[in-house]
Amino acid sequence: VPELPEVERAVQQLRPAMEGARFAGVDVRRRRLRTLLPRRFEARLTGAAVHALRRRGKYLVADLSTGDLLVMHLGMSGSFDVHLNGSVPLTKHDHVVFSMSSGATVVFNDPRRFGSMWVYDARTVARSALAALGPEPLDEAFVADVLAERLRGRKAPLKAALSDQRVVAGLGNIYVTEALHRARLSPRRAAGTLVAATGAAPPSLRRLVQAIRATLRDAIARGPDDDRFRVYDREGRRCPRAGCGGTITRIVQAGRSTFFCPRCQK
Ligand SMILES: [Zn+2]
Repeated sequence: VPELPEVERAVQQLRPAMEGARFAGVDVRRRRLRTLLPRRFEARLTGAAVHALRRRGKYLVADLSTGDLLVMHLGMSGSFDVHLNGSVPLTKHDHVVFSMSSGATVVFNDPRRFGSMWVYDARTVARSALAALGPEPLDEAFVADVLAERLRGRKAPLKAALSDQRVVAGLGNIYVTEALHRARLSPRRAAGTLVAATGAAPPSLRRLVQAIRATLRDAIARGPDDDRFRVYDREGRRCPRAGCGGTITRIVQAGRSTFFCPRCQK
């Protein structure tokens, strides 16, 4: 399931084909994705230029010359193919095809159809899921005090709190699990216990912020074919922390598997 690093890589993949180019043609082969594609989807995109393509949380966002925003989500199994020229053989799960003025063809493929696309203007975006997102974990502004404010008083386990897109944007099951191991914090610990009674951020919370950033930066740099994890999906293996000697354990939280080392994660 795509999280921030996978979405970031999708943005980097699409940028050369889409940024600065216009939508010359928009072919919707299937309207019913996770949501129904908006009415006039094709009309609002066709002819518009992409000023910038960026990521916000797990969303891809194209800022258009018309003032509209094209917002795209990969869901569980969505991905893009970019064809720089020539005709494109389409398959059953290719649902949306953008023909760009750059000559590139961008194809959205999604076998499970949990992904979707929306077009917003300045007014409607304020009521969208995008507007409710928490801070970007790779932004300079994401510091321990910002996270402290959002975790203060929360009784939810750390795993659940950090997976909440309103607390911090872009994290999911895999990278929360990995960051908590790096920060030596238990996924079961109540989130609010990381914040002092005064609201201040203790060293453990500063460590967590650094761990989230480092985990995401490493995953973006590593690339899609290398998924060596510290603890995720490594039940029964030796903890990778030098000198720990613990064993990675799997628990289920909110219906999702969590992996952690009970010896060094407190
Ligand atoms: Zn350990």
